[in-house]
Amino acid sequence: MGQMINIVFDPFQIIIDIVGKRWPHVCCDVCSARSDDYDKGKAFTLFVDGSDDVEIVIDPRESYEDCVEGLAHELAHVVLGKSYSGRDGRGHGPEWWRVFTIINNDYYRVVDGIDSIE
Ligand SMILES: [Zn+2]
Repeated sequence: MGQMINIVFDPFQIIIDIVGKRWPHVCCDVCSARSDDYDKGKAFTLFVDGSDDVEIVIDPRESYEDCVEGLAHELAHVVLGKSYSGRDGRGHGPEWWRVFTIINNDYYRVVDGIDSIE
């Protein structure tokens, strides 16, 4: 007998599928972990020095909604890569906004296409 428990609506997976389809080069690990040690906010991206490894950390104490948005936010950083510093030096320039907006628009297109669960 196979696995009988399914998550039928997984916003994290929807976002991962969107990014993977549009930017197939993107490669990273996503980790849910308390971020006190890192002092970087509720979600952040670690570009590992001297390596192509990228890790996104999302603090699970945030609301579910904020964790979902945090994943989209951080994946937009990963799409642009380590060298992109953006207008504010932290990666939030117009190119970042463009990518983040594409992810958001795709996400809501997918969600709107899913029949409501009643
Ligand atoms: Zn950011």
